[in-house]
Amino acid sequence: MDFTKKVLISMLAGIVFGTILNLFFLPNLFIESFVINTILVTISSLFLILLKMIVLPLIFVSIISGIVSINDVGTLGRLGVKTLSLYIMTTVIAITVALLASSLVSYDPIDTAVNIALPDTDIASESQRNILLSIFPENFFAALVDGNVIQVLVFAIFIGTAASYVKDQVSEFIKIIENLNKIFNQMVMFIISFTPFAVFALLAKTFALQGIDVLIPLIKYFLTVVIVLLIHFIFTYSLILKLFSNLSIKNFYSKLKELIIFTFSTSSSNASIPYTMKIVENKYGVKKSFASFSIPLGATINMDGTAIMQGCAAFFLASYYGIDLVFMDFLTIIVTATVASIGTAGIPSAGIIMLSLILTQVGIPLEGITLLLGVDRLLDMMRTSINVSGDTCITCIVASSEKLLDLKKYNNSNN
Ligand code: ASP
Repeated sequence: MDFTKKVLISMLAGIVFGTILNLFFLPNLFIESFVINTILVTISSLFLILLKMIVLPLIFVSIISGIVSINDVGTLGRLGVKTLSLYIMTTVIAITVALLASSLVSYDPIDTAVNIALPDTDIASESQRNILLSIFPENFFAALVDGNVIQVLVFAIFIGTAASYVKDQVSEFIKIIENLNKIFNQMVMFIISFTPFAVFALLAKTFALQGIDVLIPLIKYFLTVVIVLLIHFIFTYSLILKLFSNLSIKNFYSKLKELIIFTFSTSSSNASIPYTMKIVENKYGVKKSFASFSIPLGATINMDGTAIMQGCAAFFLASYYGIDLVFMDFLTIIVTATVASIGTAGIPSAGIIMLSLILTQVGIPLEGITLLLGVDRLLDMMRTSINVSGDTCITCIVASSEKLLDLKKYNNSNN
């Protein structure tokens, strides 16, 4: 059986098993403490820990070797500007569609009994961070210790650029980096072979702990987010593929399956970076030198799905608190949601925390966030898949426009 089928079957099995536990076996001390919190949590956490362990070293060496191989600062600058502009453009489209769709929905008052405590993260300090300055590391080792992807990315771009200026004098350093790159890639392959078990455990755990009943009071909000995510996934990506490239739209979607399952299970763009890079290189034929730059960048700043959730949530909470949004508020939400999604870390639940930035701007009480937490876990899985699909789409478009994409691989529907 091929890998995709195995992962798909584990995903379905995980959802079914988790739902059965939730409906028929909980509350039960043995199931909760042994089956869920010991077996499922250990398998799923181990997988995420291993992925996180490899992300920073992988980004660090693959960016440096990528930049050294591009060997031209002008090309690098052009690639950066194109990629960033498209990332931002798709996010603005995403949030605009989210607001338009939300304005068509009439929300009824909901039962405040769904109030849930906020996670520990310090909302105020998250939302007040200066996003531009925070991408530069004051201390590279601190960035490594904190697991700060964007700061490691910036530092690696800096080293790579400097190294390509003195390439002839540092050939041994470059050789070491290239060898490390090979080793880290092999480590990624080992970790990924563990995916079917991890996907089963991740989904079983989530569906066991998260009953479907939390959906009911928030069903309209939930469905609005899901529908906008689907609209963006189906229409926006097809449209920009058509407008900005000659790439086959059908092949783009048909190769996304595994990646969607993977990101759905991890709910983390960051933890998915090693896997996304593999898929983008092996299935879509994007050159490693570009994929290793564009995918970590996208995983950190391009969050279309997150922006959609944030737009719908702001609209929903405004109706809930009886706040009338005027045209200026819509613009404020579009700008702030774009900035907030850029500043959102690619980790589970980060998007709901950053929602506070938008709510503050339009005067919606922050406590509103607690209303949404019950359904946020499920929405997080879906929006993370959209976030990463967006990264993949833009990476393919820019790569094809710069001849950094192997069309044979892209068009081969068997790989
Ligand atoms: N989990 C999302 C991601 O990693 C971020 C979010 O919470 O929206 O892409």
